[in-house]
Amino acid sequence: MKGICILGATGSIGVSTLDVVARHADLYKVIALTAHTNIDTLFAQCLKHHPQYAVVVDENKAQAFKEKLKNSAIPDIEVLAGTQALEYVATLANVDSVMAAIVGAAGLLPSLAAAKAGKTILLANKEALVMSGSIFLQAITESGAQLLPIDSEHNAIFQCMPAGYVTGRQTKQARRILLTASGGPFREMPLDQMSTVTPAHAVAHPNWDMGRKISVDSATMMNKGLEMIEACLLFNMQPDQIQVVIHPQSVIHSMVDYVDGTVLAQMGNPDMRIPIAHSLAWPERFDSGAEPLNIFAVRRMDFEEPNLERFPCLRLAYEAIAAGGIMPTVLNAANEIAVEAFLNEKIRFTDIPVIIERCMKKFVVKEAGSLEIILDTDQQARLVSRQIIEKLNN
Ligand code: NAD
Ligand code: MG
Repeated sequence: MKGICILGATGSIGVSTLDVVARHADLYKVIALTAHTNIDTLFAQCLKHHPQYAVVVDENKAQAFKEKLKNSAIPDIEVLAGTQALEYVATLANVDSVMAAIVGAAGLLPSLAAAKAGKTILLANKEALVMSGSIFLQAITESGAQLLPIDSEHNAIFQCMPAGYVTGRQTKQARRILLTASGGPFREMPLDQMSTVTPAHAVAHPNWDMGRKISVDSATMMNKGLEMIEACLLFNMQPDQIQVVIHPQSVIHSMVDYVDGTVLAQMGNPDMRIPIAHSLAWPERFDSGAEPLNIFAVRRMDFEEPNLERFPCLRLAYEAIAAGGIMPTVLNAANEIAVEAFLNEKIRFTDIPVIIERCMKKFVVKEAGSLEIILDTDQQARLVSRQIIEKLNN
């Protein structure tokens, strides 16, 4: 029996993880579940999975949650509040695996704590890796932690790597990664209409059902930009070894091109329970609950090169990793602030890359040599992005 802590249990990935875990109650025991504010979903999850700990980051909501538990069938669950509690539950002695499924920079410190504590980390929270880069990977190496990618593309790449492959290591046999992207909902929209896109429109993804932030990232293709950086880090490759491929059917989840000309692809229905089950069962396999792929219903698969004029966010991600140092941290923070402003209807869809680009121009590249530098850069870039948004609206 392995103990699991799910950071971001109430989100899209968290819910899918619990669905898979429930199918394998003989193998996994839920030790801790965490939420930001959504105590109704957390309560239902606690009733079903009976963890030892439940964390509610928002202090007021945590108080309300405690009251709710008192008069319930599960009064013995220990409720913790605040961000520090995330690190506490991610490093408990009886936790073997940590699902890092908090969205955005908020997931960095607990994921890093789990890495330092030598846990098996199932990494969905790509922003944490993009912003902290080599520091995160170093923590993994030093503690002997296991890092398994949950992002469907990176999980696919991992599955296509040579047997015994360890994330972060270079493999000379693989010369290129073909990172697939659906192209999001606006792949074919006339360019002059892109500025009229609403949040409701942007979060309705054609193939995947996901949280709001990553859905907007998919629509701008910043998601693919972050994933390109994530792939460079996880698989120790250079940006020019990662080719983004638009594949609207989302059946191939990415490919690895080997020196002998072999290209290995991983396929399946677009259902996040597949990479989640892969990582939970690894190095074995077990049922994920996903439907078997009906290859006859797929019928055809298309592949296109991405258009960087339509998707400037992807270009900015390439620029950020080429600049190196703190620039990916700046890119990520500016994007988080711009996406939030777009979701709150403060800016237009097409303002998102404008804000990120202006923000990046305000920073001089320096080495992202410590956690302090990274956290400080993250805060600075958020501040600068908010100022840019204010100027834009005046
Ligand atoms: P979501 O918005 O559905 O859920 C986010 C979770 O994080 C929730 O449980 C929420 O309570 C928690 N959270 C949010 N802000 C927080 C804060 N400040 N402090 C603590 N907890 C906080 O998001 P999601 O779609 O499940 O995505 C989660 C992560 O997984 C993201 O990094 C995303 O890029 C990545 N990912 C998601 C998918 C997907 O299909 N949804 C696929 C690949 C990667
Ligand atoms: Mg992905």
